[in-house]
Amino acid sequence: MTVIYKPKGRALEYSPLACNLYIGCTHGCRYCYAPACIHKSAENWGEGVYARDGILESFDKDCAYLAKHKMNDEAHRVLFCFLSDPYQPLESSRRITRRALEIAKKWAVKVSVLTKGTYQRVKPDLQLMKDADVKLGVTLSFASDKLRKQWEPNAASVGSRLRLLREAHDMGIPTWVSMEPVIIPDEALRVVEIAHEFVNYWKVGKLNHNREVEAAVDWPKFRRDVKQLLKQYDCAYYIKEDLRNAK
Ligand code: SF4
Repeated sequence: MTVIYKPKGRALEYSPLACNLYIGCTHGCRYCYAPACIHKSAENWGEGVYARDGILESFDKDCAYLAKHKMNDEAHRVLFCFLSDPYQPLESSRRITRRALEIAKKWAVKVSVLTKGTYQRVKPDLQLMKDADVKLGVTLSFASDKLRKQWEPNAASVGSRLRLLREAHDMGIPTWVSMEPVIIPDEALRVVEIAHEFVNYWKVGKLNHNREVEAAVDWPKFRRDVKQLLKQYDCAYYIKEDLRNAK
């Protein structure tokens, strides 16, 4: 396969397979690891976002391969995307993600979407997601939109993300939240309080690569608190290895 790949390290805890449809991202998250992963400068990461050359043709071929080898099953679900957001502003005109979802549907390849895109941008694809057996994930670690703005300045507001999750859930689309990176524990716990009724699955991970902020958090306490809360609401969840081992 050429554009569908098996993630390494921590990323493998997210998904058995992944595909990056765009290069670059305009959401401007302060904790973004994506440019470092592909040896690009963090300063220019939001400039000149583009869809990868021939991405849809290559994705179609890779999906055909998965289908031919009977790998279009749950064990081979493909995540959109690790190194960009599939619903950043360029998607409104390019529609690369939508067309990739159509291709996945054609080959019955299973996809999981992870986004901080706006409700308005994702909404037109919800019916397609439902028809294509997509799981829709939203990154959400802040309940306060003021804090969200500080850390994820150009991404969708908290309200927009919650609206998207609720509507997708009401339509019968499996929803999940990537509560990573957790930066302020009380904010993350508040997200669970607010969204537990319309989120099917939670993935929880801590902030990394920021020693100063990390050192201010009592991670074992947060781990206990979040597990207790998720159990209280009978939520399915996964605690990422870094948080499981944090001292
Ligand atoms: S949405 Fe993802 S790729 Fe885009 S800036 Fe934020 S962390 Fe980086």
